[in-house]
Formats: sequence, C-alpha cells, structure tokens
Amino acid sequence: MKRILTGDRTTGKLHLGHYVGSLQNRVKLQDEYDTFIILADIQALTTHFERPELLNKSIYDVAIDNLSVGLDPNKITMFLQSKVSAIAELTVFYSMLVSVNSLRHNPTIKTEAKQYGYDDLSYGFLGYPVSQTADITFCDADLVPVGDDQIPHIEQARKIARRFNDLYGKGKVIIKEPKPLLSNTPRLIGLDGNSKMGKSLGNAIYLSDAVEDVNAKIKSAATDRNRIKIKDAGNPDICTISKYHEVFNPSEYKNIYEMCRNADVGCVACKKLLAEKINCLVAPFRETRAYYEEHKSEVRDIILAGSEKANMVGNKIVEDIKRAMNIHIE
Ligand code: ATP
Ligand code: MG
Repeated sequence: MKRILTGDRTTGKLHLGHYVGSLQNRVKLQDEYDTFIILADIQALTTHFERPELLNKSIYDVAIDNLSVGLDPNKITMFLQSKVSAIAELTVFYSMLVSVNSLRHNPTIKTEAKQYGYDDLSYGFLGYPVSQTADITFCDADLVPVGDDQIPHIEQARKIARRFNDLYGKGKVIIKEPKPLLSNTPRLIGLDGNSKMGKSLGNAIYLSDAVEDVNAKIKSAATDRNRIKIKDAGNPDICTISKYHEVFNPSEYKNIYEMCRNADVGCVACKKLLAEKINCLVAPFRETRAYYEEHKSEVRDIILAGSEKANMVGNKIVEDIKRAMNIHIE
C-alpha cells in the first residue's frame, strides 16, 4: 500500500480552508493509502515558540478536527511530531544538503516571514522546510495532500531526496521523492477577502464554529463594496461570498453569479443561502466532534498509539539512511 503523509501545525483550530485544501482528500484516500497524519507541534514552535501553552492545547483541537471530518482512527496513524525522534535525526542530516540561500528564496517562507513581521529570521523558522522534508520522508511517503502554499516545500523535499540519492544511493533510491496532491480548491481565501484563510490570521470559519458563529461570520464578510442598494448590479468576481458559493454551493453557483450581476438577488439573501450550505456541510462533523470532546482519553490513546507506530516505522528507515551515509559502526 502506498503511503500518505500530511498534517497540520498545532497552532489553533482547523478551518474550512484546511478542509477543502487537504482534509477532504485525506478522508477520501484513507482506504487507498496507508495514511499518516502529523500533529506538527515542533513546526508550530517556529512561529509560536513564545506561546508553548497554546501549542499544547492545540494538539487536541487539531486531532479532534481531523477525526471530526471522518478520518477513521482504525485506518490512519495520527502521531505527535515531537514524539518521533527519527524526524529530528533526519532534519540534522538533511540540513547539510540545503543552502541557506535556497531557503531564503522560498516564496512561502518569504510570505510568512512578512506576515509575522520577521526581518531577522530564526534558524528554526528559515529551516522549517527541511524539517518538513524529514516529516514526509521518515515514513517513506509517496503522496502529500496539501494546499498550494506548500508546493515550494514539497519541491524542496524532492530536491533533498534527489541530492541524497545522488550522494549516497550508489545508483539506488534510498529516499523517495514525494508528490504533492492539490485539491480543487488549493487556496481558500479568508473572510477578509485578502489573504488565504489561515488559522493564525483571524479570517477563518472554523470547523468547530457553532451555527450562530458561521451565520455571524458570513453576515459580516466582505462583498462588492460598490453595491450599495439592492437594485445595484453586483460584481461577483470581487466578492468573497461568491467565491465561497463556488466551493460550498457548486450546483447553484452559476445561477447565483448571474443573479448577482443582474441585481436579482441581494447580499443578505445570498449570504443566508451560503451560511445554510456551510452549516449543512459541517453538521455531521459537529456530531463526531461532540463524541470526541466527551472522550478525550480516547483521542490521547489514538495519538500515543500512532506515535508508537510512527517511531517503529521511522527508526527502521533512519537505520537504512544512516547506513547509506556510512554513519554506523561495524
Ligand atoms: P498557520 O497560519 O498556523 O500556518 P495554516 O492555516 O496555514 O496555519 P497549516 O497547519 O500551516 O495551517 O496547514 C495545514 C494544511 O492545510 C496545509 O496543507 C495547508 O496548505 C492547508 N491549508 C491551510 N490553509 C489553507 C487554505 N486557506 N486553503 C487551502 N489549503 C489550506
Ligand atoms: Mg501554514
């Protein structure tokens, strides 16, 4: 069985962007692939090292978010990054194979550095694509379902794998080059209509939001600001709500698009319809979430058992990698 590795930083609750960008594919593919879900608490430190208490709390939030959308704990392996020592070891080895300049030029690193206001980057932040390469390769993953902000990182991982194999493989593939899997919505825009929906950006509809929260957030979302009166024709091309209809209400999207342009539907009605669609999508997630919120010790057991399995898999792979590098004693 081919393997998937994907996951999320434990920096807060997951949102609809995660769902359409990656979680939906995780659920769809869990029968076909041996699926590893990483709760990336070390990677979370790269931007949140001053708030470790938030990261700790977020472990359960992110785990329950993943379970709530339909990942089956009997099929997948969900583990905590900090519990898998193979990842830390591989990060050190890979760090020799990457130039600082190539990391500095990584477009996602640049965007995120700006977003966090860093001008003098920490070693850990600059190097997180390297530790992410270790996340992906410690279990020999084939496929990584991600949003499009992750594409430069997967490309970096592929380069490291190639360089490693060239240097140490003696004609054999020691480290597989992972492939990204993008969804139909590789970047869901945030409620502000500017940047991607992000859990650290305050522009998200969370999977754990109650019906009233969803309704209120949609109600205050940005639309075409030039449309003042209901009789004014709208421009759906610059409206966040229209973009959400395309994703969450695809069967009615075209119709609503035309109605907006012809002033046949007002923003209030259009938003109400969207909120209903989103609440309908999230309703079954809420039920599963309620179960796991009541049974947190089950979640803990799932993570601990997953981490144990990840360690077994990782230790074996690290041994092979070290042997290829001649880091061993006869
Ligand atoms: P943070 O702001 O803390 O980095 P994040 O919202 O970017 O949080 P991550 O944990 O970094 O979340 O990302 C987890 C996965 O979800 C990645 O594959 C990422 O590409 C995907 N993802 C996150 N936000 C979106 C989005 N708005 N649209 C599509 N995919 C997304
Ligand atoms: Mg991110």
